[in-house]
Amino acid sequence: MVLGVDLDGVCADYEGAFRASVGRQRDLDVTTLPPQTRMDAYSEWGFTFEEFEEAHRRAVLEDRMFRHMEPLPGVSEALWELSDRGVWIRIITHRLIFNWAHETSAADTAAWLDANRIPYRDLCFIGDKPNVGADLYIDDSPGNIVSLREAGRAAIVFDQPYNRHLPGPRATSWAEVLAYVVDELDARDRQVELPLDDVDPLAPRSTGAPRRPESDA
Ligand SMILES: [Mg+2]
Repeated sequence: MVLGVDLDGVCADYEGAFRASVGRQRDLDVTTLPPQTRMDAYSEWGFTFEEFEEAHRRAVLEDRMFRHMEPLPGVSEALWELSDRGVWIRIITHRLIFNWAHETSAADTAAWLDANRIPYRDLCFIGDKPNVGADLYIDDSPGNIVSLREAGRAAIVFDQPYNRHLPGPRATSWAEVLAYVVDELDARDRQVELPLDDVDPLAPRSTGAPRRPESDA
C-alpha cells in the first residue's frame, strides 16, 4: 500500500510556525492571531493574498520555517509503525510556491524530515496531488481532499478547524491515522481472490477455430 502523506497541517505545525514568524515580522503579540477556520491566504489575520505571499516567503527564507517547525504529536511513531508493516510512505507537498526559494524550501524540508525521524521513500513537490499515485492519501486542505475524492482517490481528512465541513474518514490525531490505515491493511489481508469464472482455460473451446492445428500424423 502506498500512503500519500501531506506535510503542512498533517505532519508539521505550519500554522504555529507561520504565526511565530508573522509575530516577528510585524512585531505583533501572536495571541492576537486566531486559529484559521477558513483555509485561504490567512484573511482572518487581515492578509490580502499578496501580503500572505510576502509573509510566507519571509517565513521560509528569513525564519527557515520549513526547517524549524514543530512536528505534530505522534507522527514519527505512527509512520514508523506503518512503514514496518510494509506501507510505502510517499510524502506529497506543495511547498515550491514562489520562485528563488526552491533550494531553501527543498533542503529545509529534507532536513526537517530527517531531524524529526520521518520514514519515507518518495518526496514529491507538487500541487496537483491527484496526479501523484497513492492508494490512500492523508491531507488537511479542503481543496485537496475534494479534488482527490473527485478523482476517485481515497483520502483521510486530517482534522483542522478549517476542514470540519468535510465528510470522513477523518482522523483527529496520528494515533487515529494509524488505527485507520491498519484497519485498511487488515481488510486487504482478509480479501479472498475470487475466481473469474468456472471455465477451465485448458479445456477445448466449444465454438470457433481449433486451439491448434490438427496433426496430420
Ligand atoms: Mg496541508
